[in-house]
Amino acid sequence: MVSIEEAQRSILEQITPLETEKVSVFQGLNRITPEDHVAPWDIPPADNSAMDGYAFSHAALTGNRLRVTGFLPAGKERTVPVPPGEAVKIMTGAPLPPACDTVVPIEDVEEDGEWIRLASAVKAGSHIRERGEDIRRDDIVIPAGSLLRPQEIGMLSAMGTTSLAVHRRARVAILSTGDELLEPGSTPAPGKIINSNSYSLAAQVLDAGGDPVLLGIAPDTLDDTCCKIRSGLNADILVITGGVSVGDRDFVKMAIEKLGGNVTFWKVNMKPGKPLAFAMLEGKPVFALPGNPVAAMVSFELFVRPSILKAMGHRRVFRPKVKAALQEPATNKGKRPHLVRGIVSAHEDSYIVSTTGNQSSGRLSSLIQGNSLIRLAPEAVHAEGDKVEVLLLDRGFEMVEAVQ
Ligand code: AMP
Ligand code: MG
Repeated sequence: MVSIEEAQRSILEQITPLETEKVSVFQGLNRITPEDHVAPWDIPPADNSAMDGYAFSHAALTGNRLRVTGFLPAGKERTVPVPPGEAVKIMTGAPLPPACDTVVPIEDVEEDGEWIRLASAVKAGSHIRERGEDIRRDDIVIPAGSLLRPQEIGMLSAMGTTSLAVHRRARVAILSTGDELLEPGSTPAPGKIINSNSYSLAAQVLDAGGDPVLLGIAPDTLDDTCCKIRSGLNADILVITGGVSVGDRDFVKMAIEKLGGNVTFWKVNMKPGKPLAFAMLEGKPVFALPGNPVAAMVSFELFVRPSILKAMGHRRVFRPKVKAALQEPATNKGKRPHLVRGIVSAHEDSYIVSTTGNQSSGRLSSLIQGNSLIRLAPEAVHAEGDKVEVLLLDRGFEMVEAVQ
């Protein structure tokens, strides 16, 4: 049996980032840049006014009065020096005219015809944004490997970028296996259940930024399983659920081997979700996850999601872990680490967590309302208030409700 971390390490070692594609700067959102982005110019490009006000030379100031002899809106440039003792009315963002070094805001002067009087002493150099104070030409502003968020998109645009290379989205094929499965939309017949895994996994793919490709259901025969797996190799990653244990109708491992894949089959030391097979088949990573809906989602979370992220160029591929105080006693009677579905919330300056109730691994409802996985060590006995390790699956709990 291998540990979760050993299985993760050995899978991620085999995942290489996908090639890049050119997209418009907008479509770069939430993607990873493979290259450094270097500033082509200074930002701001010139010294300019930080306020609507009056620009003048501080050294040439005598007394507290200045004659206003010009007007400079944003978008215009003045090349003629402003004579000593004079000021120009200047709008925010307008380049500072020659022979000026100071701006006094409109609200700090008294206007009197073509004159202004400074209401109080003004410091030399006030209210000026200096050329290059934000970004200097040739700075590496966004290094290779960065995640592009709205602020990076804005900065790229300020640097004149209209399109850029990003690692492309991973196409992730999803195959459910089992003679008992019917697609949603049908009424379950005796002995049948609805295929939910394809959809929970597809949603997890989308959530990771990937592009799911639904392959449907493979009946429990070796030929059907092989045929569906082969069609899944058009994608970048293939995720199969069900048929991976040691039952008489579990053909997934055999099918991958028949197609030439070298299957690493692990019993991963975790509950839920012990059986996990991984293979590289025609250069594509293939995951065979348990069929049990909870085990499938938890295994996806631990093994497939980090792989999708790595394939898409991400360097941070694991969810954050925090310590949280248990709101109820919790024990793990088993010999495997138990990933208990938890409801975590922020409480003052720490986290608290409770379980989602019955943790039977067949119960998809144990994931509903859950936002985290509490890791209980083998044979752990915890009292209420004990701090436990919690993997945060979504951080929606940190959002704050609107005041009604
Ligand atoms: P298996 O790993 O194929 O033995 O399946 C384990 C359990 O998960 C069985 O109870 C299956 O009916 C259930 N199961 C397998 N695949 C799915 C699926 N796609 N959607 C919902 N339940 C499934
Ligand atoms: Mg099955």
